[in-house]
Formats: sequence, structure tokens, C-alpha cells
Amino acid sequence: MSYALTEDQLRIQDLVRRVAKEKVAPRADEIDRTAQYPQDMFDLLRQLGLFTLPFPPEYGGVGNMLSACIAVEELGRVCYNTGYLLVVQWVPFGAILAGGTKEQKHRLLPGLASGELRGALSLTEPQSGSDVSGITTTATATSGGYRLNGSKIWCTNSHIADFILVAAKCVKEDGSPIGINLFIVKRDTKGLTIGRKEDKMGARGIPSCPLFFEQMFVPEAARLGPEGGGGFKVAMEALNTSRPIVAARAVGLAQGAIDHSIQFIQNRVAFKQKISDFQGIRWMIADMVMQTEAARQLVYRAAAMVDAGATGKELAPVAAMAKCLASDVAMKVATDAMQLFGAAGISAEYPINRYFRDAKVVQIVEGTNQIQRNIIADSVLGRTLRN
Ligand SMILES: Cc1cc2nc3c(=O)[nH]c(=O)nc-3n(C[C@H](O)[C@H](O)[C@H](O)COP(=O)(O)OP(=O)(O)OC[C@H]3O[C@@H](n4cnc5c(N)ncnc54)[C@H](O)[C@@H]3O)c2cc1C
Repeated sequence: MSYALTEDQLRIQDLVRRVAKEKVAPRADEIDRTAQYPQDMFDLLRQLGLFTLPFPPEYGGVGNMLSACIAVEELGRVCYNTGYLLVVQWVPFGAILAGGTKEQKHRLLPGLASGELRGALSLTEPQSGSDVSGITTTATATSGGYRLNGSKIWCTNSHIADFILVAAKCVKEDGSPIGINLFIVKRDTKGLTIGRKEDKMGARGIPSCPLFFEQMFVPEAARLGPEGGGGFKVAMEALNTSRPIVAARAVGLAQGAIDHSIQFIQNRVAFKQKISDFQGIRWMIADMVMQTEAARQLVYRAAAMVDAGATGKELAPVAAMAKCLASDVAMKVATDAMQLFGAAGISAEYPINRYFRDAKVVQIVEGTNQIQRNIIADSVLGRTLRN
């Protein structure tokens, strides 16, 4: 595991930083304000080949999670929503790679890598978010496949995805339980209704919608992994490997908030001096930079572990630490940045409150930070009952 970034990774960083500044940053406020899906940004990322970064070469990818993190970080620095376009594509990729059949991988992964296909992952239900085992959507075994009934909420990208990975409890025809599985559901499947998009405080550019399943038939070939419980393991594995990129988005967000803060405090005058000359302000900026750099290093380490082939119990606590620390730092840094802006931070005229609103989302999505802390504590104390 090499410590320094490679020549290729530095090149990716340089390219994405430049594109982010020139093409993404000018769109960021508008995407947030209008809450419209940024198709132009999707096309730009596709044109640059950025979707390929974490995919193994056999599926048309570059096969490097650290490079993926660097790209997400640079985009998240100027526009959370554009960084999210990459992350939302890479989460279902992880699940399919971990649990798909050879046929499913060859059918879906090259399309996800090139951006020809778009995916989404749907676990959360009205009564169960963190507790995935509490889902009540059922997949009743029937001739040649399953009939899904139930509903989901907060499925991000579902309005535009070609397919959605849906978690459901498999049951026999007599209702007896088999276990949780993921199913590959095409968006136009009969019996699937996609509801109205959430009006969100942050992550506004990439819609999240409820899903409703009414006697929706899926063939057996749509099931990911062996029937009964395998799907749950697959989903958890996928969330572990995608955590570094979720975390990288938070590092980028924190860095972006620092960038804006530096510019502001060097131009704002109070008591006849630049506010950046007050020691209290200088120490705030020093803490913001220090915490962000610490989070960055942990995220890069988690990504490097994925690249070195770490999985399961080895990867889980480090990936959880990266996600938890980076998003807590993003929230803290964005909050301090708002303070540095004074009343200007409250005004929509400045972009800083967008960072503040988006930061809160990262503490909640992809496993809340309490759940990440549970994973970390489990790794050192052993698993315990939580109810
Ligand atoms: C912008 C956005 C996009 C999303 N996109 C998706 C998506 O694409 N697909 C999808 O499936 N879901 C998605 N979600 C849902 C998200 O994954 C859930 O909101 C999250 O897992 C938490 O679930 P919950 O909201 O039901 O909270 P709950 O699980 O009800 O938790 C409520 C509170 O209790 C805490 N808590 C729960 N259990 C424990 C415990 N054991 N120990 C300590 N504290 C605990 C939580 O941390 C939280 O603070 C999205 C959410 C948002 C906001």
C-alpha cells in the first residue's frame, strides 16, 4: 500500500480540479436552487470517463477506489450534487460486484461504468432505515420468480435510473420467511410506481422518491445472490466498499467551505482590519484545515484498503471511521464557515449555506453516524444487543 498518490492519481486530481472550477462551480448554485437533476453534469462526467474509476478493468473500468475518491472530493469541493452523481452510480455497482452472477455483472457493470446505464439502491422504508432487517416489503416466491408488495422511501436517482436494486423479504407462497434479498428491478416494470420527489434541505439536485410495489413480478434471474439472507450480506458489503467515496464527498465539501471562508475573511473588514488578522479567526481556520486534512488522510487510507483487496471485518471499521469522521468534520467546518461569514452566511447571496445544508445530509445517508459508531465499537468490543 503506497502512501503517496501515484502519477495517475495526481493527473486525475489535476484534471477534475480544473473541470470542477471551470465547468461545475458555475452551475452549483443553480442546481441547488432549482432542485433540477443536472443532466449536463452527468454528460460531462461521462465524457470525462469518470464513472469508470472504481470498476474493475474486466468491466471497462480503471479499478481504483482512491482515484474515485479524489475525483469525488474535487467535485464535492464546488458542487455536492455533481459529486453525488458519481456516488449514486457507484453504490449499486458495489452490490452487484459483491453479489451478482457472472451474467448480471456482464449485463450491468460495463453500462454503469460507461454511464450508459444508471442505477439506484432502495433499502429504506417508512418504518425502517437504519434497521434494514425491519423492512416489510415482501417478495413472495411464485412460478418463475417473485411478486413484490410494499413500499420504500428516499430512493435517490430512482426517477432516472434504468434499474433499481430493491431489498425485500423473501417469503414462501404460504408466507413463511426465507430471508432478505436484493432484486434488480427495471424502472418500467409493471406494478412499480415511483412517487413524488422529496423537497429536500440538501442534496437537492439528485431527487429521492418513494417507491410502491403492487403485485410486481420479477423473474428469478433478477435476484442478486442466493435466496435467503445472502442479499442482506451483499448490501452490507456494498455499503462498506462505497463508504470511502461517500466520505470523500464530505472531505471535498469541507475543503470547499474552507476555500469560500478564506476568500471571505481576507476581504471583510471590522474594527479597521481584515477579520483574517484576528487571532480568534485565524485559529478557527487553522482548526478547520487541520480537521479536514485528518479526515482526508483517513478516507485515502480506507480507499487504499479497498484497492488492496480488504473486505469484511478488516475494512468495515476503517470505512466506518472514514465516513463518520469526514462527515462530522464537514458539518463542523461548514458550521464554522457560516459563523465566519456572519449574516452573509445566512443570505442565499453567498454559497456557504449550501455547504451547511449539504453537510447535514452526509451525516445521515449511507448509514447514519451513530450506526458507523456502532460498527467501530463492535470491532473493538464485540457485538452487543441494541434494543
Ligand atoms: C438525501 C437522502 C438520500 C437518501 N438516499 C437513499 C437511497 O438512495 N436509498 C435508500 O435506501 N435510502 C436512502 N436514504 C435513507 C437513509 O439511508 C436513511 O435515512 C438512513 O439510513 C437512516 O434511516 P432513518 O431516516 O429511517 O432513521 P432511523 O433509522 O429511524 O434513525 C433515527 C435516529 O436514530 C438513530 N439510531 C437508529 N438506530 C440506532 C442504533 N442502533 N444505535 C444508535 N442510534 C440509532 C439514527 O442514527 C438516527 O439518528 C436517503 C436519505 C437521505 C436524507
